[in-house]
Amino acid sequence: MTVRKETRQFQTEVRQVLKLIINSLYSNSDIFLRELISNASDAIDKLRFKAQTEPDLLGEDNEFKIKITRDGIKRTIEIADNGIGMTYDEVNENIGTIARSGTAAFLEAMEALKGKDNLTPELIGQFGVGFYSAFIVADKVTLVTRAAGETTATRWESAGDGTYTVEETDKPGRGTTITLELRPAEKDQPDYTDEWTLRGIIKKHSDFVSYPIVMDVEKQEPIPKDEQILDGDGKPVGETTRTVIKEETLNSMKAIWARDKKTITEDEYKEFYTHISHDWNPPQTHLHFKLEGTTEYTALLYIPSKAPLDLFQPDAKHGVHLYSRRVFIMDDCRELLPEYFSFVKGVVDAPDLNLNISREILQQDRLVLNIRKNLVKKLFELLKGMEPEAYHSFYKEFGPILKIGLYTDTTQQTKLADLVRYKTTKSDDQWVSLREYVDRMQEGQEAIYYLTGDNPAALLNSPHLEQLKAKDYEVLLMTDPVDEWAIQSLKEYDGKPLKSAEKGDLDLAEKDEKKDDDRFADLFAVIRKTLQDDVKEVKRSSRLLDSVACLAGDAMDMSGYMEKIMKATGQDLPKVKRVLELNTSHPVMEKIHGVYKENPEDPRLAEYSHLLYDLAVIGEGGKLDNPSRFGKMIGDMLVTALN
Ligand code: ADP
Repeated sequence: MTVRKETRQFQTEVRQVLKLIINSLYSNSDIFLRELISNASDAIDKLRFKAQTEPDLLGEDNEFKIKITRDGIKRTIEIADNGIGMTYDEVNENIGTIARSGTAAFLEAMEALKGKDNLTPELIGQFGVGFYSAFIVADKVTLVTRAAGETTATRWESAGDGTYTVEETDKPGRGTTITLELRPAEKDQPDYTDEWTLRGIIKKHSDFVSYPIVMDVEKQEPIPKDEQILDGDGKPVGETTRTVIKEETLNSMKAIWARDKKTITEDEYKEFYTHISHDWNPPQTHLHFKLEGTTEYTALLYIPSKAPLDLFQPDAKHGVHLYSRRVFIMDDCRELLPEYFSFVKGVVDAPDLNLNISREILQQDRLVLNIRKNLVKKLFELLKGMEPEAYHSFYKEFGPILKIGLYTDTTQQTKLADLVRYKTTKSDDQWVSLREYVDRMQEGQEAIYYLTGDNPAALLNSPHLEQLKAKDYEVLLMTDPVDEWAIQSLKEYDGKPLKSAEKGDLDLAEKDEKKDDDRFADLFAVIRKTLQDDVKEVKRSSRLLDSVACLAGDAMDMSGYMEKIMKATGQDLPKVKRVLELNTSHPVMEKIHGVYKENPEDPRLAEYSHLLYDLAVIGEGGKLDNPSRFGKMIGDMLVTALN
């Protein structure tokens, strides 16, 4: 049999990350141990989960543990687990590349950091590059791993300098052993081969890891009487104690959520959050409670302070881990919370849950459904009770995902509508709730007005808002793609309909202006005919005050922003024809009307029609189909005007 062996290059991004990690995390070097222990603990979790359906995977080796071995002379430390391990292919997939799901988000973040050679630990924490933190302290890392159920093992080795080798090898037991050859000792760095240094770090960062983290330590033990050398009087002559090497468990493994709240410090809550979330930013807040009765469970939930980079990736991990009587059942438990709360991290421990429950039947499990209902209620209470400032910093990060609930969970729409916030034409860049909006509506104002688009500044100056501004009506500025979907479901708030400033009739005009409709009807027909490929209707506008033209939609039409989003996501849309609205009070319209009355066949009418359309497109920040035609027309007109 030929043994596979290859030398590979790190992905460019990994090389960058490695460099950044080594440079930026030097003063935080302790974290490497937490990261590697955390990976080991995840690997055991995974195996336990798999072994529920394939018990043979465990074999004799069913005492899970993570073993740390240190060697002060060789300056190495070793972290070994008997978890799920990795196959040859898995090593290549997982180590040396950036995790697939985060790649896009990661690259974006890297782009934003270009030129900076300092990453904050928090940022790295969000990338999920835990393994690479080994290179902060080591100049060579060797990983030997054997997947549960396999006979051959794989060795991965790198000096973190651009290449790594992978080869098949042998390993007596299942699991992963990582050996770090530590960099030469430096004064300002802890000695990671020192027993008490390691004890301290493990106690601080990994105390609640639910498997024993063990290390061989020297102990003094009494020498049994029959092994001692005694004198004539039966008194010992030599030593009565001796040094032995014993394996000691260094972490308490206490499930923090099962403890009495009063005994838990803020630091412990924080450390536990880091452990389960892999996010190094402290959480914004947490919720710890126990429910008794027919649905019995304990929950410790956290709201992160920063959104992860992959928040919107469909395959991003959800953050709730499910336990039963402190026995881990599964992570990434999507069934416990709806998508709009998928940013919540934490643990749910339900003692009555069937240990062998599979992801498939979880969805129908009554207990799980009840817990979910209850968790949702609690989270709504938590968010509602937050102080405005804290809530706004939460909302800035997670508002977009919360809004998904407006259209995916109509049963909670009212509660969600109370939680959403928008910037408005009057809010001076502050967040406004729908409640506040309604409370300060103008006399006679019957609807809640909103406008969607990607650029807040352009929205503020949109011609669609001219009449609304003249009436001093406030308008919600919705600049998040999710808003387009949310607003289609959220039809009203507190009995007030939500109305798009760019769609349908705003009914703002004074009644007698409607006679303009008849006066201009023939001219509008001519313009419509000229623009028949672009617009479906030409009519008097109820929105404009200063501008002469704008594009609008029928109440049920897709908005301009929605069209833009769909196109950006590569959807093949048929051209959406909109309504060209003209301001009949604008002097230009009177002039064009004059030209028309003089000669309905005047060739200039076609030119003016295109010009009006182009002005409307520009007014909403759109792109002209034929910019050179527009430029030529303006040029010609300037010549006439300046003559
Ligand atoms: P993360 O843990 O955030 O996914 P890492 O770079 O730490 O990122 O690890 C990458 C992947 O390598 C993990 O997702 C896991 O699949 C695998 N891995 C790392 N350490 C181990 C281990 N001790 N046992 C099994 N698999 C591991």
